[in-house]
Amino acid sequence: MNQLIRAIAFAADKHRNQRRKDAEASPYINHPIALANVLANEGGIDDERVLLAAVLHDTIEDTDTSRDELVQWFGEDVARIVDEVTDDKSLPKAERKRLQIEHAAHISRHAQLVKLADKICNLRDILAMPPSGWSEQRKREYFDWAKRVVDELRGAHAGLETVFDEAYRQGAPSEHAA
Ligand code: NDP
Ligand code: ZN
Repeated sequence: MNQLIRAIAFAADKHRNQRRKDAEASPYINHPIALANVLANEGGIDDERVLLAAVLHDTIEDTDTSRDELVQWFGEDVARIVDEVTDDKSLPKAERKRLQIEHAAHISRHAQLVKLADKICNLRDILAMPPSGWSEQRKREYFDWAKRVVDELRGAHAGLETVFDEAYRQGAPSEHAA
């Protein structure tokens, strides 16, 4: 049984009615696949649990998927990583964003890797295909918040932190203006 293919099929089904926020409303599944691609092919990560958790990282937060369902299909380790990167949606947005900064240093290294890849992919999306209607200021606020989260987990993976820093640099105001 190839668990990675199974996770992609599982996430594709769970996210099937969801779209990203870019103008073309891209299929949601592109994003979790992009995380796994960054981790495997830019970070050299081959721990299957991390790659599975990347593919599944938004299933609890954004679909009807339960932690138990992930335990049943993908095991306790994968379910725990996904749980660690899942925001508590009962909290107001600003509080959730504050807690991401506060928690980033204290989650497991596996969860930190998924979180780092998530921020890399979201910065790249904002550069290439931003959410419709976002002003330059709103993009900048997102970049700066993402950097505050990543700054709390530095040491998790130097190579991917450099990949993040490069994406962040590309969003610098001088380059936006260019
Ligand atoms: P959102 O949380 O609404 O959107 C960002 C999230 O959307 C990403 O983290 C990503 O999450 C997902 N996403 C989907 N499509 C894309 C895409 N194409 N590019 C990038 N991300 C995408 O926005 P904010 O993070 O800005 O959070 C809202 C906060 O902003 C609130 O605290 C609110 O107070 C504030 N706000 C600011 C405004 C302003 O003009 N400055 C206006 C309105 C609100 P995932 O990885 O989970 O898919
Ligand atoms: Zn995500």
